[in-house]
Amino acid sequence: MQIKRLRLSGFKSFVEPADLRIEPGLTGVVGPNGCGKSNLLEALRWAMGENSPKSMRGSGMEDVIFAGTGSRPQRDFAEVSILAEDVGDADEVEIVRRIERGAGSAYRINGRDVRAKDVALLFADAATGAHSPALVSQGRISAVISAKPAERRQMLEEAAGIAGLHVRRKDAEQR
Ligand code: ATP
Ligand code: MG
Repeated sequence: MQIKRLRLSGFKSFVEPADLRIEPGLTGVVGPNGCGKSNLLEALRWAMGENSPKSMRGSGMEDVIFAGTGSRPQRDFAEVSILAEDVGDADEVEIVRRIERGAGSAYRINGRDVRAKDVALLFADAATGAHSPALVSQGRISAVISAKPAERRQMLEEAAGIAGLHVRRKDAEQR
C-alpha cells in the first residue's frame, strides 16, 4: 500500500481544508513548534481507525474537531481522507473518516458507508493501521521499549500482517 494523498478538514489545527500529496520515497514535515506536524500524523492514524482519544492527546474523540480560536468559531465536524494505491486488487482506494459533534464517527471506502471494522481490516491486511509500529508518535519510543510481552506481540503481529486474522476470529466467535 502506498499513501498518495492526505486531506484534512476541520481536524485539530487544520481548520481550512488541506490537501497534501505524498510522493514516493521519503517525506519530511518541517515547521516551528506547534505548527501541526504531530497533528498530521494523528490525522493519518485517526482515519485508519484510532479509537483512543488519549493517544490523540484529547479527553474525548470530539477533541479532534477544530475547537475555535479567539477570532474563529469552532467547527461542527472533522474529516480526514486517505487516498492509497496498491491495496489488494484495487488500484486506488479512498478511505474517509468523519466525526460530527454529538453524532460520532462514520467511515467511507470509495464513497460507500462502511463499518469501522472494514477499515481496520483493509489496513490490517496491508500490514499497517492505526497501531502500526511504523507510526511512532513523539515520546513513544520508550513505550515500545517498556511494553509488556503481550503488547509487544501485538506490535509484531501487526508488522507481520496477521493482525487481520484476529479481527476475523473475533468476528467469527461472535456469530
Ligand atoms: P512540536 O514541534 O512542538 O512537536 P507540532 O508541529 O507537532 O509541534 P502539533 O502538536 O501537531 O505541533 O500541533 C499543536 C497545535 O494544534 C497547538 O497549537 C494546538 O492548539 C492545536 N490544536 C490541537 N487540537 C486542536 C483543536 N481541536 N482545535 C484547534 N487547534 C488544535
Ligand atoms: Mg510534534
